[in-house]
Amino acid sequence: MYKFDPFAIPFLIGFAFVIGWVIVRMIQIFIGMPKKDKKRVFVNIFTFKTVRGIGEIISEVLIHHRIWRENKLLGFMHMSFALGWFLLIVTGWIESSLRANGETLPIWQHIFYKYFFPGEHVFRLSDVIKQLMDLWLAVILLGQLIAVLKRFFYRRAGIKIRTRHSRMNRIALTALWFIFPLRLLAESCTASLYGGGGFLTGSLGQLIAWIGDASFITYPMWWAYSIALGVFFCVLPFSRYLHIPVEAFLILARRWRVSDITTINRLETMACSACGMCLSDCPLARNNIAGVQPVYFIERLRDGKATTDDAWKCLQCGRCQQICPVRVHANNLRQELKGSTDRVEFGLDTHKRVLAKRVTLFSGCMGKLTPRTKAAMEKILNAAGVEQTWIDEERDLCCGRPLRFNGNQNTANQKFNELHDAILETRPDAIVTTCPICFNMMKNRFETIPVYHHTDYIRMLIEAKRIDLERSEETLTYHDPCELSRQAEYARQPLKVLNRVGTMLQPEETGEKTRCCGGAVAAIGLNNSERKTLAQETADYLSNRNADKIVTACPLCKKTIAQRSKRPVADFAEIVADALVERE
Ligand code: SF4
Ligand code: SF4
Repeated sequence: MYKFDPFAIPFLIGFAFVIGWVIVRMIQIFIGMPKKDKKRVFVNIFTFKTVRGIGEIISEVLIHHRIWRENKLLGFMHMSFALGWFLLIVTGWIESSLRANGETLPIWQHIFYKYFFPGEHVFRLSDVIKQLMDLWLAVILLGQLIAVLKRFFYRRAGIKIRTRHSRMNRIALTALWFIFPLRLLAESCTASLYGGGGFLTGSLGQLIAWIGDASFITYPMWWAYSIALGVFFCVLPFSRYLHIPVEAFLILARRWRVSDITTINRLETMACSACGMCLSDCPLARNNIAGVQPVYFIERLRDGKATTDDAWKCLQCGRCQQICPVRVHANNLRQELKGSTDRVEFGLDTHKRVLAKRVTLFSGCMGKLTPRTKAAMEKILNAAGVEQTWIDEERDLCCGRPLRFNGNQNTANQKFNELHDAILETRPDAIVTTCPICFNMMKNRFETIPVYHHTDYIRMLIEAKRIDLERSEETLTYHDPCELSRQAEYARQPLKVLNRVGTMLQPEETGEKTRCCGGAVAAIGLNNSERKTLAQETADYLSNRNADKIVTACPLCKKTIAQRSKRPVADFAEIVADALVERE
């Protein structure tokens, strides 16, 4: 049953190259991992974590569940290629194995089964399998049709900004677009000569036979199909399609709790699929301050061409990370390029939550610029009977995060340690800060003391009925700070509180989809005019709701929006303080 034909050579070269490349690269990454992470891999590999990882690989690499969630058409398109091709390989393998009746076939006889075994063959399930094979091929071709149309009518596909692809990506894409039509033609021509085929290749084969003799083009078609496969596999490691194998490794590394930032950064750089979803809501892309969004930044990083300029020219607002289907943390990649880590955890502080009697409060460098927020907090805490110490009232203290953002890791650590020790001296039951940037830096960094953002602490006071609020006629638009809604994943709750005191007029992009105010401390590479454009855009966007006040929960957002907004801007604490009802 062993057969060979030279036309399979291009495929075999490409296949051997891509497998070899991926294996060598993954081994290199594994060797470069710190000992503790290698140990984690060995400890976790034969556990339920791997099973869950495989589930996530099916959900994200094959079905593209996260893309479905954002855009159904794009979800189908990506799934049709990934899952369709996977099913084509698996079903084809079953078909050729059943036909071989127990004999082991070489890989090329599985891949080019219809060439090596032309005509109708009857064996167990053969009828079902041949129809399934054509169904998977039809699904892929439908996805391909959508992909082609999307290039011309991208807005109709729900894409706001189209991605510009590099030369390598274009070569890989062209090869990919040739693979499936060539397969269809090669199989159909073969069916026209020898019969067989399912509802698609069989019918097309009959049509070709009716038109004329296809014997002179059948063999070249198999060559062309094999060449398209070979070219695609050879350029895959240098193109966006590298994400196909690497995303699976990335998912497993995360499941196995690999924590080394360099390892995760390397994998994330290779796992970016250049889908361009990160462009759609990026304020820089929207305002034509282009070229630094993850899709381009990562491409340059992969090609070794990224400069620190690319890192400085980004707000690090995290909107692109939030929408990214691969969950690439582009901010970490930028931080690495700046020479520092700013790997703060997502979510709130995880210590046991307490409604403390004695609280230490920290305004932070930005918070000191908004004294009304402090005054409002004092009023709220006094009403709730909470003993308060403002740690930076008379001292200049800093959490160090802005320094980290700007690559000054050592001084940042010194600053944080200073703050840490000063807070511990006050022996608080809880720590509260009115700045979400400081909050993300401080959370989980105090061994036994919980750290709160003031919105969360106020919400707890209300729920515990330590303060009462009165509703007013005021209309409000709440602006979620990026650091609070996306980094701390605290988006819905402040809105619920505000709903109790006024009527909310929210913009469409709210919660975790909030727009950056433009005042980000990380973006020192943006010039004044670029910053002004970004800040004005957000201020107008919020003002357009025509609410009596714009409310936010970050001193930097408050300052930036207030400078450009047509509406007055207040902190969350000010609104709550104004709504306080005095108890008898
Ligand atoms: S970073 Fe994420 S969203 Fe952006 S192109 Fe890469 S995979 Fe797509
Ligand atoms: S972090 Fe914000 S500004 Fe930077 S690329 Fe992402 S969306 Fe654009």
